[in-house]
Amino acid sequence: MMKKTFILLIFILLFCNNFSFAQTAENQITSINWENNSLIINTTNKISYIESRLKEPERLIIDILNCSLQDKNLLTSYKSESGEEISVTEQPPNKVRIVFLGEASINRKSYLSNNDRILITRIARIETEVPDELKNEGTEKDERPPGKFKDLTIESEEDETRVLVSASKSIKYNTYILKNPDRFAIDLLNILPPEIPPPKFRPTAFVSGVRIGRAASGIEATRIVFDLLKSDLDCKVDSNLLGNKLEIKFKINKERHEAQKKLGLKIVVDPGHGGYDTGASYGGFEEKDVNLVISEKLKKSLEDVGISVFLTRDDDNFLSLAERVEITNSIKPDVFISIHGNALVSSRVIRGVETYYWTSQSHKLAYFIHRSILSHINIPDHYIRRAQFYVIRHASAPAVLAELGFLSNHDDRKLLTNSTTQDEYAKALTEAILKFLDIEQNRDQKSEIRNQKNGNQ
Ligand SMILES: [Zn+2]
Repeated sequence: MMKKTFILLIFILLFCNNFSFAQTAENQITSINWENNSLIINTTNKISYIESRLKEPERLIIDILNCSLQDKNLLTSYKSESGEEISVTEQPPNKVRIVFLGEASINRKSYLSNNDRILITRIARIETEVPDELKNEGTEKDERPPGKFKDLTIESEEDETRVLVSASKSIKYNTYILKNPDRFAIDLLNILPPEIPPPKFRPTAFVSGVRIGRAASGIEATRIVFDLLKSDLDCKVDSNLLGNKLEIKFKINKERHEAQKKLGLKIVVDPGHGGYDTGASYGGFEEKDVNLVISEKLKKSLEDVGISVFLTRDDDNFLSLAERVEITNSIKPDVFISIHGNALVSSRVIRGVETYYWTSQSHKLAYFIHRSILSHINIPDHYIRRAQFYVIRHASAPAVLAELGFLSNHDDRKLLTNSTTQDEYAKALTEAILKFLDIEQNRDQKSEIRNQKNGNQ
């Protein structure tokens, strides 16, 4: 806490002539270089990043969190040796995203160096040990006589693993995060490794093994490598302890955990009808067009919170029900939703929202969708119903067919064809899907509020 306040104070002192700056990210990228098929990113502070691999198209995304670019000229793209693009973009409010496409993403691996202030992303080699790149280059040579490693103890709790390390003198260190497999390494600089290997440790919820040895570099150091059981861990080192000790804490990074959860998710949105199959047609509007517009808005809205969305059609073409199911089941989504407008030839008075499901795994989804629409849109409740529509019967995922309103009714038609209420429909459906997938919302809003508070201090 003290440390954070202190950093913030320095920030405000340095940039008090530019108040808005205090609200932006804490970390800044000072340079990005593409050399020898490696991307090398230098920053002002410790880097926190998420690495995600996505398919279709094959890509690797590295999100550097709580970070911005010092110079907008760094917003650029690079070409890999195989010709694919590597792009650097800023993702408001405070994230920098690097995307490696196609071949450039395959067998690529990232790690941190120089006290977590340099991120290197390069073609991986098959390595079993800590790579040579992790030599303690740039570390000042400690002229004092080396100290001795004394002790390492592990305390395990359900949500945290704490490691206490002690030596015969105060400890300076470098840390590294390594992926595939996930490891955390710390070099205790100018500390001699123990002569007798320490006893075996019982695995904790987060750490499956610990190895202690001499750092494989030109400098005298003890390297401790922790084999991690989870990839979204925060590994924090606290050396402000009394005596010659430091503490390493491993715990789940909730923000990263949520983000990863979202990044792996896939939703299929199915705009009903298309091509010569117009669906209902009233007041100059065709259902197929309304379905497509709302589906596209829903796609955008879900993508804005980091979820991958696939449309069964994105133009005015006919697609059979079997084809829609085939597309859906090949994607294996977490949720399927078919978007429709209702119609009744016999009565123009009937209006309201109807939500259909068939399988038992879809009931909860139907419930959330139905309630969410009713809470966002001023429209009557025409009930949740169970029916064997082809697409929701054959989709392998939890599946719902939503009849968002009656095109045959004047008031409902206004709701379905007005751009503002279409946005509300998209928002309502997004909230329901997130709730169904058990994803916490308003995180961005919350962190925005937090940032503003910090800025005002
Ligand atoms: Zn329809």
